[in-house]
Amino acid sequence: MQKRGRTLEAIYQELGIDAKVYQYGKKFEDQLKERFEEIDRTAEYNQLKVIKALQTHKVSAECFMGSSGYGYNDLGRDTLEEVYATCFKGEAALVRPQITCGTHALALALMSNLRPGDELLSPVGKPYDTLEEVIGIRPSKGSLAEYGVTYRQVDLLPDGSFDFKNIKKALNDKTKLVTIQRSKGYQTRPTLSVERIGELISFIKSIKPDVICMVDNCYGEFVERKEPLEVGADMIVGSLIKNPGGGLAPIGGYIVGKKECVENAAYRLTSPGLGKEVGASLGVIQSFYQGLFLAPTVVAGALKGAIFAANIYESLGYPVVPNSTESRHDIIQAVTLKSPEALIAFCKGIQAAAPVDSHVTPEPWAMPGYDDEVIMAAGAFVQGSSIELSADGPLREPYAVYFQGGLTWYHAKLGILMSLQKLYEAGLVQI
Ligand SMILES: *Cc1c(COP(=O)(O)O)cnc(C)c1O
Repeated sequence: MQKRGRTLEAIYQELGIDAKVYQYGKKFEDQLKERFEEIDRTAEYNQLKVIKALQTHKVSAECFMGSSGYGYNDLGRDTLEEVYATCFKGEAALVRPQITCGTHALALALMSNLRPGDELLSPVGKPYDTLEEVIGIRPSKGSLAEYGVTYRQVDLLPDGSFDFKNIKKALNDKTKLVTIQRSKGYQTRPTLSVERIGELISFIKSIKPDVICMVDNCYGEFVERKEPLEVGADMIVGSLIKNPGGGLAPIGGYIVGKKECVENAAYRLTSPGLGKEVGASLGVIQSFYQGLFLAPTVVAGALKGAIFAANIYESLGYPVVPNSTESRHDIIQAVTLKSPEALIAFCKGIQAAAPVDSHVTPEPWAMPGYDDEVIMAAGAFVQGSSIELSADGPLREPYAVYFQGGLTWYHAKLGILMSLQKLYEAGLVQI
């Protein structure tokens, strides 16, 4: 018989997790078995969806060669865009390292599909912070407002449902594009399921069939089996240093959807007349393929981490959004820690569990654009990557931390146990 190896508890202890903390976590992990299995089944479904798309487009070693200069006839880039289109059920895709981040991808989708005199509508309340400057809600150089594109917003009702009456009123002759943010981002409203997004789009199209419905898909990819293009969206937009990059893409963004919408974006990204034909993929294209391939299981790990944390912190009396039992539509977990000490301890734990920079201590700092100090924990291979385990929160009431990611479930678990360890050591929780 093989000699029994050292226990898990022992290796956790070596990393600084007390037996008590380990056991506290284990209790919840045991209870979550069925839910984790359901997440694994979704990951399996999405894994096969990705493999099917790679096979359909006959991805081969030549696709990983990369190109330089103008990037004409870049087989790897063009094939990857076909793979994305197939995987996310669009007619066309733009997937480029020249798209610098999620905000850039969203700005590109908006600015290329709107013209002076058009109106943009958000029927789901205030969009993500950085989009305020893109739209011109906060005056900013180069915003849509400067180009004569107006903006309307209809907030969700207090219970989180759509305000159909006012959405109908807000749609008018000028409304060209509707932007729907899937993830709650850093707000308290619920994240929208793909099904709910479908209901909203059906309603909007029943009033104005030709309006373009764009979904900000950040943090939502591969959480469910369906994506928003399957329920009527015209365009989905996201970042490759979140879910679909699988932690391997070092940069990039994507737009998938109707051919015309994607072409407009391509002409804006490069130049009228050039469009998708230029844009060298340099040396990063293989990581885009491999990242997409891994993304379904990476997202599953992040989801398990979020649910594990919700269960642990809810049991300790901290409000959590989503709560311990709710269904999940993105990978973000908010925990209201109620005191600056707890918020700082939590972030220190996430940092201490990181594969990179675990030796540094996160401190609150005055980040540009924020009124209050912010604390951030991230020890990522790719700078700013939030599919890797990361946490942040502003130092103000109610001291909520937002955390997300984890390239593997085991790392997410260690991060959460370490956060609990730090709160425990500081005497902030009784376990
Ligand atoms: C992250 C995010 C963005 C912006 O992406 P960046 O890459 O940070 O510019 C936009 N919308 C949502 C919902 C996001 O989560």
